[in-house]
Amino acid sequence: MPRPLFATINLDAMRSNLALARRQARGAKVWAVVKANAYGHGLQRAMRAFADADGLALVELDAAVKLREWGWTKPILLLEGFFEPADLPVAMKHQLQIAIHSAEQLAMLEAGSMPGTLDVHLKMNTGMNRLGFKPEAFQAAHARLRALPFIRNISLATHFANAEVDADNPVPMKEQAGRFHAACDGLTGERSLSNSAACLLHPEMAADWIRPGVMLYGATPGARTAAAFGLRPAMTLSSALIGVQEIAAGDAVGYGSAFVADQSMRIGVVACGYADGYPRHAPAGTPVLVDGIRTRIVGRVSMDMLTVDLTPVPQARVGSTVILWGEGLPIDDVAQAAGTIGYELMCGVMPRVQVIERS
Ligand SMILES: *Cc1c(COP(=O)(O)O)cnc(C)c1O
Repeated sequence: MPRPLFATINLDAMRSNLALARRQARGAKVWAVVKANAYGHGLQRAMRAFADADGLALVELDAAVKLREWGWTKPILLLEGFFEPADLPVAMKHQLQIAIHSAEQLAMLEAGSMPGTLDVHLKMNTGMNRLGFKPEAFQAAHARLRALPFIRNISLATHFANAEVDADNPVPMKEQAGRFHAACDGLTGERSLSNSAACLLHPEMAADWIRPGVMLYGATPGARTAAAFGLRPAMTLSSALIGVQEIAAGDAVGYGSAFVADQSMRIGVVACGYADGYPRHAPAGTPVLVDGIRTRIVGRVSMDMLTVDLTPVPQARVGSTVILWGEGLPIDDVAQAAGTIGYELMCGVMPRVQVIERS
């Protein structure tokens, strides 16, 4: 029997979350973001679940080519653009749209003639200071792109640094959006700004296209819970108890004896550890479901196992079902307890975890 550890991927939840994103978009078209193997959910699976999206966006060139080979005919967007000139013929051959965010990329485009045409997304740095041209350099970059005969459509894009927090921060999203639209003045390309947080919290920001990612997988970057928005978890990481220990007051559990019982109790041993993608830094108290009842992990997470407090679940025994996150236990709750975000947990599930697909 294989080790009882499963990531169940619910395609219906993904379809339903995409439909919700589309409703939030108020008529804007939807790039479903599928970078990082669809946030750990499987790229090909996501392609099927997101068949209704207007386009798929990611950062990996080889994965974009795979989408074409698997039959995706609608637009594909490379959010970080291209990395070297040799990428350009590949993008042209497969009609991959590419972000142009740097002077270096512009120079590479200008360096040679090209065997086809390209649709590009000119990216503006409106305050995040990661990728993009500054607002004052944007129109000049646009003019240089327009001068290239193989460039077809030029879309206009920016990315928010703080869409999930209130106005009280160094780079408020409304200022970013204001800078973006002002610097795009007179340009005709389609505009995209919104990530999941902006889609959920500021639907009025949707322009021509939105770019939701994490919400499609049923997590939220925002203050409210995913369920409060009507999002459904796409991934459930589940396992089982493979051992139970009865311990007395003063007994310790696991490496470093990080947990010491202050009374007699039962400890459940779960077949899931950091080599499966469960965060090693999750502290005692991180929530977990055993037989559907919410309890907590105790002691250090080890490579292949973690340990849980069975006090609230007296009926639990070897074989009892354990949910690490997903149905019944929001990934955002687990992430918050572990000092990270749902994105990192879902992206980090390791290949040795068996995947079960639910349509
Ligand atoms: C990843 C990414 C997104 C999606 O972000 P979420 O927070 O997952 O919705 C949108 N736009 C760009 C440029 C990205 O890199």
